[in-house]
Amino acid sequence: MANSFKVLRHKMLPIICSIVSRTMKSIGLIGGMSWESTVLYYQTINREVAHRLGGLHSGRIQLCSLDFAQVAAGQQADDWDGLARLLGAAAQGLAHAGADCVLIATNTMHKVAPQVQAAVSVPLLHIADATAAAIGRAGCRRVALLGTRYTMEQPFYREHLARAGIETLVPEAADRNAVHQIIFDELCRGQVLDRSRQTLQAIVERLARQGAEGVVLGCTELPLLLGPADVPLPVFDTTTLHALAAVDFALAP
Ligand code: GLU
Repeated sequence: MANSFKVLRHKMLPIICSIVSRTMKSIGLIGGMSWESTVLYYQTINREVAHRLGGLHSGRIQLCSLDFAQVAAGQQADDWDGLARLLGAAAQGLAHAGADCVLIATNTMHKVAPQVQAAVSVPLLHIADATAAAIGRAGCRRVALLGTRYTMEQPFYREHLARAGIETLVPEAADRNAVHQIIFDELCRGQVLDRSRQTLQAIVERLARQGAEGVVLGCTELPLLLGPADVPLPVFDTTTLHALAAVDFALAP
């Protein structure tokens, strides 16, 4: 009896796995911005799919990994239209390859999210939507925002959170420069330094004294340096939240 159950399970398992794989939607990732954080997306998505489905399951992922030097040069040159075209073409390539949704795997490049969404008919899963949902679940209304200077200083990201009823506090100018430099000069080059962690901790403490109830790691490399154990506030890790939103989408019926 036990033996025939084993045989049945052995025969059924591949059939069940193939049904799950066919119904699991495919996640399109525009990555490489930088690839140090794209690795985190790839790992988080696959681990979460394995956790939820068990066995050998992993995510169905299309990845378009851009050359970050080109992207960073466009940012510095203020060529957001050119970058919108670059990311729009990447999104189209992913959709043609079968992606059922698209993610821009960086906070900063969500500046061109409307143009990227306009380039494809599949949904763009916005990183600030996933972040706002988590902030709301935690009951926070006022959060510190750490990210690149573009993300902290330009309105596109803060306004997106504001539309969800979330107020953001950003560091003062010297601290914004320090965070920006840590991101581009260290984290995007694979360097994780204790002294930079201490710099971020001091910045978070200053923002906590100004009334921040949580801290948004609004740069996808920041979780490489700072975690919940490093600061006295709830941490909103946009990389993980965005990747988990993609898994929710992929596994939704
Ligand atoms: N990955 C970073 C972010 O989330 C910075 C890289 C970029 O400028 O796109 O904003």
